[in-house]
Amino acid sequence: MLNLILFGPPGSGKGTQAAKLIEKYNLFHISTGDMFRYELSNNTELGQLARSYMDKGQLVPDSVTISMLQKRVEDNPNVKGFIFDGFPRTTAQAEALDTFLSESGQSIAGLIELVVNEDEIVKRILLRGASSGRADDNDEAIIRNRFEEYRNKTTPVGIHYAALGKAHKIEGVGSIEEIFDKLCETIDSLQ
Ligand code: AMP
Repeated sequence: MLNLILFGPPGSGKGTQAAKLIEKYNLFHISTGDMFRYELSNNTELGQLARSYMDKGQLVPDSVTISMLQKRVEDNPNVKGFIFDGFPRTTAQAEALDTFLSESGQSIAGLIELVVNEDEIVKRILLRGASSGRADDNDEAIIRNRFEEYRNKTTPVGIHYAALGKAHKIEGVGSIEEIFDKLCETIDSLQ
C-alpha cells in the first residue's frame, strides 16, 4: 500500500492536487474537511458538533476526528493506498494514525508539505470563498485563525514525520501542473 499525507496550511492546494494524484496513482482520497462538510450538509449530530468549531476556524476535537477517520480507513480495506488530506492536524492524530495503520501492518510512506506563506493563503482562500460558499472561506479573521491553528497545532505533525525521515517539502506556489510534477517526482522517489 502507498499511504501518503498531503500536508500544508488551508488553501495550499491539497484538495486540488489530491484530485489529480488519486487518478494517477489510483489511491483513495480521505479529506476530513470534506467529511465534516458532508455531515454538516446532512445536519447530523456530528455535523452540528463540527460546525461549532469550523465556523470559528478552530480544529474539531481529536477524539471525534480520529474515530471518524479510522472508520473510513477500516471501511476501505482493499484500496491501493490512501491520500490523507487535512489529516493528521495534531500530534495526537498523527500518533493515532501511525498506531492503527501499524496494527494492520501498514505505515505512512511519506508526508509531502506544500509550502505557501500566510498572505498568499489569505488571498487564495478569499478568492475561493467567492465561489465555494464556505462560511469559513469568507471572513479574513476566521481564515487567519485557521492559519494560527495550523501554525500552533499542525506544524508539529511535520516535525513528527521529519523525525521518522518521512517528511518532504515542495514549493506550493506556481501552476497546478508544475506543482503536480514536483509532487509526482517526490512520490516516485518513495516507491
Ligand atoms: P479543511 O477543509 O481541511 O480546511 O477543513 C475545514 C475545517 O474542518 C477545519 O478548519 C477544521 O475546523 C475541520 N477539520 C478538518 N480536518 C480536521 C482535522 N484533521 N482535525 C480537526 N479539525 C479538522
